Amino acid sequence: MLNKLTDLLMFRQPTDEDNQSTEPVVTTGSILWGVLLRSAILILIISLLLESLSMRQHWWLMLFALWFLVAYPAWLQYKKFQERIQNFQEETLCGSCKHFEANSQLCKIYDQHVSTEYIPCEGLSWEPLNEFPED
Ligand code: SF4
Repeated sequence: MLNKLTDLLMFRQPTDEDNQSTEPVVTTGSILWGVLLRSAILILIISLLLESLSMRQHWWLMLFALWFLVAYPAWLQYKKFQERIQNFQEETLCGSCKHFEANSQLCKIYDQHVSTEYIPCEGLSWEPLNEFPED
């Protein structure tokens, strides 16, 4: 639990270890949780600081802090996550299956995280991505 919270707060960079894990550390959901958690903590700390220093008119400092300490790191993490998941899709059977949810590295019909080591259906429920949707 504490490790999970630390991962969210630290915006850890995605690694290839997540490809082999059925509990990936970085997903779109974890990035969003990180943004919410960091924003809440930062807003609280800066509000208290500005209040105690009687500097309420400098509220705009909060925007800079939110950009540099929340939005930008989250965006970098998301870009790295996208690269990793793209490689993952090229390496695995699930990556070419229409039941694969890339944002959370999840199989939609089995509701389980997939990995390079673990394919919940063992290929039996695989269906190709429909790249050319019918009109
Ligand atoms: S149905 Fe099978 S191949 Fe498709 S995403 Fe789920 S586990 Fe992977």
